[in-house]
Amino acid sequence: MDNIYRTAKITKVEVETSKVKNFILDTKVKAFPGQYVMVWIPGLNEKPFGVVQSLPLTLSIAKVGPTTELIHKLKIGDKITFRGPYGQPFTIISGKILLVGGGYGVVPLYFLASSIPAKKRSKITVIIGARTKKELPFAAKFKRLGCKVLLTTDDGSSGFKGFTTQLAEKLLDKEKFSAVYSCGPMVMMRKIAQISHAKKIFCQVSVESFFKCGGFGICGECCFNGLIVCREGPVFDGKVLL
Ligand SMILES: Cc1cc2nc3c(=O)[nH]c(=O)nc-3n(C[C@H](O)[C@H](O)[C@H](O)COP(=O)(O)OP(=O)(O)OC[C@H]3O[C@@H](n4cnc5c(N)ncnc54)[C@H](O)[C@@H]3O)c2cc1C
Repeated sequence: MDNIYRTAKITKVEVETSKVKNFILDTKVKAFPGQYVMVWIPGLNEKPFGVVQSLPLTLSIAKVGPTTELIHKLKIGDKITFRGPYGQPFTIISGKILLVGGGYGVVPLYFLASSIPAKKRSKITVIIGARTKKELPFAAKFKRLGCKVLLTTDDGSSGFKGFTTQLAEKLLDKEKFSAVYSCGPMVMMRKIAQISHAKKIFCQVSVESFFKCGGFGICGECCFNGLIVCREGPVFDGKVLL
C-alpha cells in the first residue's frame, strides 16, 4: 500500500461518452486489476477511482457531482494528485471468462481483460450495459483488445434491449464459463452473483461503496455486511451479495 501523495501531469484527455472522460497521466503505478487510487482535489474532497491502465496511469471518470465536475474541467498539462493503489484485486481464473459491467463499472474489468495475454483474449466475453447508446463506455477499447463485446441498453438504442443481467443469464444458459466478474450498480452485481452461484461458477464483484479514508478502513463509511470495502475489497467473492 502506497500512502505517499504523488502529482502527475495530464498528457491526454479522451471523451469516452457524454458523461465519461479518460485522463491519461505521465506516470505509472504498480497496480493489479480491481485496485483503485484516491484522487485529491485540494480544498474540496478525495475520491476513489479504479485504475484503467497502470502504464501510463489512466483513470476514467464519470461526471456525477462536485468533485468529478471539477476533474472534468482539467486539461492537458494540468496536474492530478493521488495516492495508492489500494484494495484487493481480482483473482484471475484461466479459461473462458465473462465480464459484466454497468456504466463506468467497466473500468476495472477493462484492466482485468488487458492483463490477460493477447492470445487468450478471444476467450473473454464482455457485456457492457448503459441506459442509452450515448452512455456506453469502452466498447471499442474491449474490441481492440480482442474480446467479444455484447452491448445492452435500457432503451434499445444499441445492442440488446434490456439489462446486462438478462443477457448474461441467456449466455450462461447456453455456454460454459469458468469465471464471471462484475462491476456496476449493486442490484446488477447481486443478480449476477445469484446466477453464477446457481450455476456453480466462480464469481467476483467489485463493490464501489462510498468511502472517505480510502484504504485505511477507519472511517466506517463503506462497511456493508460487516465488510470494510476500502480495505477488504473492493473486489469480493460474489457470495457476499447473496
Ligand atoms: C473502489 C471505487 C472505485 C471507483 N471507480 C470509479 C471510476 O473508475 N470512475 C468513476 O467515475 N467513479 C468511480 N467511483 C465512484 C467515484 O468515487 C464517485 O463517482 C465519486 O466519488 C463522485 O464524487 P462527486 O463529488 O463528483 O459526486 P458526489 O457528490 O459524491 O455524488 C454525486 C451523485 O452520485 C451519487 N454517487 C456518487 N458516488 C456513488 C457511488 N459510488 N455509488 C452510487 N452513487 C454514487 C451520489 O448519490 C450523488 O447523487 C469509484 C468508487 C469506488 C468506491
